[in-house]
Amino acid sequence: MKMPTSHAFRLKMAKQKAEALLKEEGITTMPVDPFAIADSRDIEVKAKPDTAGGVSGMLLRHGDMFGILYVTHVRSEGFQRFSVGHELGHYFLDGHIDQVLPKDGIHTSYAGFVSADPYELEADQFAAGLLMPSTPFKRTVTRARCCRCQVRSAASTS
Ligand SMILES: [Zn+2]
Repeated sequence: MKMPTSHAFRLKMAKQKAEALLKEEGITTMPVDPFAIADSRDIEVKAKPDTAGGVSGMLLRHGDMFGILYVTHVRSEGFQRFSVGHELGHYFLDGHIDQVLPKDGIHTSYAGFVSADPYELEADQFAAGLLMPSTPFKRTVTRARCCRCQVRSAASTS
C-alpha cells in the first residue's frame, strides 16, 4: 500500500521547490523580486486596490495564460511581494493549477492568513522559500514561521 505523503513533508517540498527555482533562475542576491520571476514566465502582475479584507491576491487563468493580482490594502511592500510569491506557488507547484484553477477563471488567495487549506499553506511555504531561502538566511526563515506579521517583517528586511 502506498503511504500518503505527509502534510509536513509536502510543505517542506513546497519551500524546496521555490529554492530550486531560484537556483534555476540564477538568482543569488536579496531581495528576490517575485515580479521579475512572474515577468520571465509572461505572467502579468497588477495591483488590485479594491479587494475585501483577508484576500491577499488572485491568480487568473485564461487558457494557458496566467495573471496575478495583488492587494494593496496591506501597504507593506514585503507583504505584497509575499502575496505575489504565493500566487507563483500555485503556478509552479505540482498539482496546484489542477486543484485551485483547473479551468479559466480566478482563484482567490489568503496568503499569510491562517488557513486550513493545504494548497494555501503550500503556496505560503513556496513564497517563504522564494523570498527567504534557507541559505544563507536560515534564522530569518525560522523566525518567519509562526505569524503573518513576522513573515511581513522578515520579507521586508531581507
Ligand atoms: Zn492561494
